Amino acid sequence: MVEEMRWDLAQLVESTEPEKIVAKFEEMVTEANNFARKYKGKINVLDVEGLVALLEARDAFSLKYEGAMEYCSLRYSADSIDPVSKRLNEAVRKASNKVGQALAFMEIELGSLLKAKPGIVNDANLEEYRHFLERIMRRIPHVMTEDLEKLTITKDQNGVSAWSQLQGDWLSTRMFKIKVDGVEKTMPYGEIISHYQSRDRALRREANRVVYDGLGHDAIVWASAIRSVCSDHLQMCDWRKYPSPMTQSLIDNDVEQEAIDALIRTMENSVNSYRRYLYLKAKLMGLEKLGNWDIIAPLPSASEKKYTWDESRKEVVAAYRSFDLEWAEWVDEMYGRRHIDGEVRNGKRSGAFCASWLAGKSAWVMQSFNGQMGDVYTQAHELGHAVHAYLGGRHQKPSNYEIGSCIAECGSVFGELLLTDRLLVKANTREEKQAVLATVLDEFGMAAFQVSARVFFEKSMYEAIKGGKFLDGETVSSFWTASRDRIYGEAVEWLPEMKWEWTMKLHYYIPNYRFYNYPYIYAQLFVFALYRLYKEKGKAFVPKMRTLLAAGSSRSPTDLAKELGFDITKEDFWRKGIQQFEEFVDQLEATIKQ
Ligand SMILES: [Zn+2]
Repeated sequence: MVEEMRWDLAQLVESTEPEKIVAKFEEMVTEANNFARKYKGKINVLDVEGLVALLEARDAFSLKYEGAMEYCSLRYSADSIDPVSKRLNEAVRKASNKVGQALAFMEIELGSLLKAKPGIVNDANLEEYRHFLERIMRRIPHVMTEDLEKLTITKDQNGVSAWSQLQGDWLSTRMFKIKVDGVEKTMPYGEIISHYQSRDRALRREANRVVYDGLGHDAIVWASAIRSVCSDHLQMCDWRKYPSPMTQSLIDNDVEQEAIDALIRTMENSVNSYRRYLYLKAKLMGLEKLGNWDIIAPLPSASEKKYTWDESRKEVVAAYRSFDLEWAEWVDEMYGRRHIDGEVRNGKRSGAFCASWLAGKSAWVMQSFNGQMGDVYTQAHELGHAVHAYLGGRHQKPSNYEIGSCIAECGSVFGELLLTDRLLVKANTREEKQAVLATVLDEFGMAAFQVSARVFFEKSMYEAIKGGKFLDGETVSSFWTASRDRIYGEAVEWLPEMKWEWTMKLHYYIPNYRFYNYPYIYAQLFVFALYRLYKEKGKAFVPKMRTLLAAGSSRSPTDLAKELGFDITKEDFWRKGIQQFEEFVDQLEATIKQ
């Protein structure tokens, strides 16, 4: 396999010698302890100048050790079998824990300082840190006493965290029997789900049936876990004085209830647009109606065109070049400097991600590149995150680059749409065009519409518990199917076993991660709306997009939208995203009439 598809991680460190890296971590822990000695118990008497010095020192600290930490974690993601990678990953994990413990006092003490002197955030000398401090202030009313916070951590270890661990362990140790090409095979969950995307319709259906039938047998385990996680959350909402089960997530994502309510209303009012697409897709597949096993399946007419690494690079760079020359240079540099690991090999983590490298004003991308169109899309997506990091590294301090999930996907989803533009122009045949459009529409369908059903589901769980209902497996399933049907209506035929779909959804079991879902909808709709604006305004839109991504987390998503002239608390705004979705559906329909 060619070297250019492999990371050159040595750029992250002065020396790749493991001993030197471990020594650097020791230095990091010592520095954190010195930092704590200097500031612990003294933050509440800091004046503005002292506070600026503290925040700048904190940022300098994180930039100083970012490279070495990233080197270890990326190296491990790329090769978890290598003993040196394992050792370094363990070293970074331990060192980060120690640093975390040493510096845990900071947010609590910053909180009490801000509580005593709330006016300080408006001081001109703190301008650059204003929103960072505002975010801390928003959390203050919900922080309990130190003892109660400590007790909560202990309680969670054997409570929600244990339930989460059980769900994960249970799922990863289930085995499933399925016939593939006439041969009966037994395989784990991670393997059988790859058949969901098979071109063989009967196999897709059978894979879904086997998985959910199997998971349904253990309903008693899944129901205990989800019931405990949700009930625990409601109890904690009382303790922390959160007005609604969504509050904690709104604070984490730096958004307001009003905006999310408008977003979700828009989705529910737009289900017919999605159903229209689903019927259209059925038609393209020669079916009357899609089965749930067809929703994300490739179109039968889609070509199996493969892309080489160089072809993919050419398309992705060209897609970004159509928008902004500098972005294209950065994206090209990601390939040229070997910041993308695309090689498929054993011991490499599955999935794709982008890690920002603020100190290097760059980023690192990992994926397993098999040359499918989907892989080219993944590359465009992850490189959109990279562009975000290039801008962030140039314009923001680390404190202002703690981006919530709603904004984090803006560069990436936008990059996918730029690639779509490019591939649609280049498509020679009707089938190629259909394949590109279906890729975009399927993704929006999953990330925006399907995820909306999950918001409904989560809400109904909390309401039921509050109403005194006992959540056994069948009851949870009834909420799941009712929520699902609000989005899909009659447009899809569901296998009866699909009522157990909630059992495998990892996010519902992750401790302190309630309402993981709406940021996905937010990002899709927001970016589709931005893209529509780009189509209307052309080049005049480019600087606006740059400003948005360069802002990092220095302003709230609401303020960032305002700067673009949008009011995200109004359904009118979110409708623009749906209109863009509808336009892609129109384009797909036009290919059939041709
Ligand atoms: Zn992403």
